Amino acid sequence: MSWYDMGPVSTCKLFGAVRAVTGIKNAVPLIHGPRGCAYHIGYLLTARGGRRIAVASTELSESDVVFGASEKLRDRIIEVDRTRKPDIIVIMSSCATSIIGEDIGRVADETSELVDAELITVSAGGFESSQGEGYEEVMMALIHKFCWRMEPSSKPSVNIIGEFRGGADLREVRESLSLMGVDVNCVLTSGCSIRDMTMIPAGHLNCSFCDVSGIAPCRFLEENFGTPFIHHPIPIGFSNSLRFYREVLGYLNLDYPINEEFSAFIEERDRIRAELEGLRVAVVSGPTRAVALTEFITELRMKPVLVSMDMIGDYTLENLRGVPGLRSEILVGVDVSDIEEAIIRTEPELILGGLAETRISEVSGAPLIDVMHGSSLTAGFRGAVNLGARMCGAVYGDHDCY
Ligand code: SF4
Repeated sequence: MSWYDMGPVSTCKLFGAVRAVTGIKNAVPLIHGPRGCAYHIGYLLTARGGRRIAVASTELSESDVVFGASEKLRDRIIEVDRTRKPDIIVIMSSCATSIIGEDIGRVADETSELVDAELITVSAGGFESSQGEGYEEVMMALIHKFCWRMEPSSKPSVNIIGEFRGGADLREVRESLSLMGVDVNCVLTSGCSIRDMTMIPAGHLNCSFCDVSGIAPCRFLEENFGTPFIHHPIPIGFSNSLRFYREVLGYLNLDYPINEEFSAFIEERDRIRAELEGLRVAVVSGPTRAVALTEFITELRMKPVLVSMDMIGDYTLENLRGVPGLRSEILVGVDVSDIEEAIIRTEPELILGGLAETRISEVSGAPLIDVMHGSSLTAGFRGAVNLGARMCGAVYGDHDCY
């Protein structure tokens, strides 16, 4: 092990808060802190997501972080409102302003009459907790601000809570639900507008898509609006997707030929299975995706030899234990060196992970598929076919393996 192997595998609360905000339509994250927090988080999200992520900052100086800078924050809120014309500005503290106890709520209250945007504040000092809590606090703040009791929608409808990644997977889930006659009122936060958020209480069911941050908002919505929720692993894999859609249809009491739809994919699943059966696989991922991917691997009769998650939520281990025949090593929140050592020791022939696993993939010789940040389809039945084909391609080369 060398010094650069050591390091945490998850980031700070502010990162989670900013990421959650960047999903909302026409919203600006404004960090009350030194410029580095905004630059690094914006840069990382831009690199991961493939689109420019702009993060505003009060760019505090040394004296600001000693004596406070509420005037600077007030001026920046007004400037952002006038120049960017956002619907929402989410004002977040950083380590520096959380330490000195700058009252961002008071500044927001005093400034709200001077701007058109809705103002929301989140205490997001990096040391306060991890990124998961940043996601959760932003969602809770949005629910408190925009959700009021209302009549349920006349059409069957759901909300997806704790989904921050848009793109192909979210489109697939929305389209599939639409075919089943199910409206998605709001995806919190990916692509949602203020109007979408106001429609959350009209939904008949909430689906948590993040085991770490989605459960608390779902519980709050259940307690305050009586909406039941499910915490199914995100629908990746044939069987897992089938169970997810069955669960939603069951809750909504809808008649839809989901078994027939699934049957149309069995032949393709079996062809992929015949190619990949027996391969040793390591999964390095966030918890909700890790559980779904691990089940998919076992469904294809591959062998998950390692499952490493940066953190876990209330139901992660319960859901993981439910994966039939799982005997892999499980790591939670360990640092990079432990993950790399485990990958070398367990000798996978394929790694499902993220950009951070690039080096260990090269060192170990096991090909890597980025399932964390890619824009490629992984969800639903069609996503299962696509991911299966990518796994075949990664292991056997570019030939048409099935
Ligand atoms: S840990 Fe603190 S200083 Fe570093 S990015 Fe997060 S909020 Fe900023």
